[in-house]
Amino acid sequence: MIYLDNAATTLPLDKALEKYIDVSKNAFGNSSSMHTAGLDAVNALENARASVASLLACDKSEVYFTSGGTESDNIAIFGTVRRLNRRGKKIITCAYEHAAVENCMNELEKQGFEVIRIGTKDGAFDIDAFEKALSEDVILISVMYANNETGLINPIERIKPLRDRLAPAAYIHTDAVQAFGKLPCDVARLGVDLLSVSSHKIGGVKGIGALYIRKGVTVSSPVFGGGHEKGIRSGTVNVPAAAAFGVACENADPAKNYTAVSALRKYACEKLDFVKTHTFSAQSPYVLSVTADGYKGETLLHYLNSKDILVATASACSSNGKKDGRVLMSQGYDENEVSSVLRISFCADNTKEDIDALAAALKEGLGTLSKGVK
Ligand code: PLP
Repeated sequence: MIYLDNAATTLPLDKALEKYIDVSKNAFGNSSSMHTAGLDAVNALENARASVASLLACDKSEVYFTSGGTESDNIAIFGTVRRLNRRGKKIITCAYEHAAVENCMNELEKQGFEVIRIGTKDGAFDIDAFEKALSEDVILISVMYANNETGLINPIERIKPLRDRLAPAAYIHTDAVQAFGKLPCDVARLGVDLLSVSSHKIGGVKGIGALYIRKGVTVSSPVFGGGHEKGIRSGTVNVPAAAAFGVACENADPAKNYTAVSALRKYACEKLDFVKTHTFSAQSPYVLSVTADGYKGETLLHYLNSKDILVATASACSSNGKKDGRVLMSQGYDENEVSSVLRISFCADNTKEDIDALAAALKEGLGTLSKGVK
C-alpha cells in the first residue's frame, strides 16, 4: 500500500505503540488516585506533557490534554466566549477553517454572536480585511495555522501586533493541528494565547490531543466534571495515549522533515505536470492539492485505491463525508476544481518511488476513465 493521506491520519510510530502498551500495563492507575499506581500514571502523564511542551517551546503547565484537535478547538473557542462575553459579541475567524472550528462558529452565530470570516486575496490570508475587521469589541480571533485541504499557511505571527493595537480584549487562538510537529510552533514567536494540536497527525495514537493555554490567560471551559487538567478538560485522562503522544513529539523533527518533505513535494509537482498542482506563496510542503479538469476527484480516488494508492479528495475529517466547497472556494478554487480535487498528503517516510507510482497510476486513470464525470 502507498499511503498518501497523512493529513487525515498517520501510521502510529512503533515506539508510540510500544509506549501505549507499556503504560497501559505498567502505569494503568487513574492519574487522580493517590496511591502508587496513580503516581505512576501521573509520572507518565507529566513526562508526556513535557514532551508536548518542548515542541511548543512553552512551559509544561501551559499544556492541557484533551481528546484531540476537535475538543481542543471547542474548549478554546467556547471557553473564551464564556469567559469574555461581557466585553463584546464579535469574533473573527477564517473562511476556510476545519469543521472543528467552523461548526463552533455556526453555533455561536445561533447564540447571537457576530462572526466575521476572513478569506484570501491573491492566494493569501487577506490581512487587510482582517485588520479592518478588528475593533475593541472583538473577544476572540481564531485563525488556523495550516489549512488541512490545501496546506495554505496563514501568517499567524502578524496577528498579535494588530490585536494589541486594535482589539486588545481579544484572545488569539490557532488550530495548529496540521502544523504541529511539521512547521515551527514556538508559541511565543507565533504570539498566540491558545493553540490546538492532535496526536494522530504526527505518529501518535487517536483520541488524544492538547490545548496550549498561555500562562495568565483564563478560559471558562464548557466541559464539566471532576476537574481534571486543572478544570479545563474534565474526564479521566487517557494516560497511555498521552504517553504515546509524548513519544511521537520526541520523535518529531520538524526542521529535518520539512526539508525532506519539501523536496518530495517539489518532485511530485514535477511528476504530476499533466494535472494542475495548486501551490500558495505560503505553503506547507505536507499537502499537495491537484485538480484534473473534467474528472471527478472521487472517481480518481477510487481508481487510485484500486491500485493500492491512497489519497483523499478534500478533508476526511467529516464523519458523513459531506463537502460543501466552502474551504476550497474561499481559497480561490472554482466549482469545477472543487469537484475534481485530490489531496495528496505526505509524511517523511514517503519516497520518490511512491510519487512515481502515483503519477503512473493517475496518468493511466485519466486515460482509462471517461471525462465528464463531474
Ligand atoms: N483541525 C484540523 C485543521 C484538522 O485537520 C483536524 C483533523 O483532520 C482537526 C482539527 C480535528 O482533529 P481531531 O481528529 O484530533 O479531532
